[in-house]
Amino acid sequence: MDALFCGKNLSLKYQLGDVQVDALKDLHFSIEAGKFTCLAGASGSGKSTLLNLLGLVEPMQSGQLIYRGRSIADLSESEMNHIRRFEIGFVFQSFYLIDVLTAEENVEYFLARQGRSVDLRRQQARAALDWVGLAEHRSKRPNQMSGGQRQRVAIARALAKEPKVVLADEPTANLDSKTGADVLALLLRLCRERGCSVVMASHDSQAIGLADCVIRLRDGQTVKES
Ligand code: ADP
Ligand code: MG
Repeated sequence: MDALFCGKNLSLKYQLGDVQVDALKDLHFSIEAGKFTCLAGASGSGKSTLLNLLGLVEPMQSGQLIYRGRSIADLSESEMNHIRRFEIGFVFQSFYLIDVLTAEENVEYFLARQGRSVDLRRQQARAALDWVGLAEHRSKRPNQMSGGQRQRVAIARALAKEPKVVLADEPTANLDSKTGADVLALLLRLCRERGCSVVMASHDSQAIGLADCVIRLRDGQTVKES
């Protein structure tokens, strides 16, 4: 059985003052390991909420989420922390790099949470920046880099820890179409060359076209899986 994630009757509500928002309603889905999966859907359809559940950032409310054969509800806090630190990498629309750190330091900083030595961190950060094609830019700060370069630093940061899965939340939404296509190609390479599963939220038709599997969301529900 190759499922990386499996969702059964997953629902999640947000309370906004007196109003309840049903962000996810009774979702059923399966995401295969080693594949490039796209969560597609209009703004407000629940893509980020689902990614945050998959990334163990958003607490479960109801239903079941299974990660690599184990129900999330059965994991201890320390098992969840281990998965967050070692197995899951995140990439966001607005990069979230630290302005005062260089590209290399941005990547290294996140590796510190894994308790690796300074030398090993540096080595892994350099290898990750090389892999995304930024070897010559590693001493630059984010404000000295283009949007596409910044997103590549963010991808290097996510992959440096050699995660099992990278969760990307509209990683091309702030980029022009050419730069966005380059970032998509890089995420696809991450999946094909390094065997890393990629789950990407996007309503970009290019991303949907490239994906091995598309999960379509509308108003917090699955429309169809292909
Ligand atoms: P998408 O990423 O597809 O745009 P989201 O998962 O962000 O969708 O949002 C799904 C629904 O949940 C939307 O109606 C949104 O307004 C609502 N929502 C998202 N985050 C919050 C929050 N923190 N508090 C209240 N409502 C939220
Ligand atoms: Mg979103």
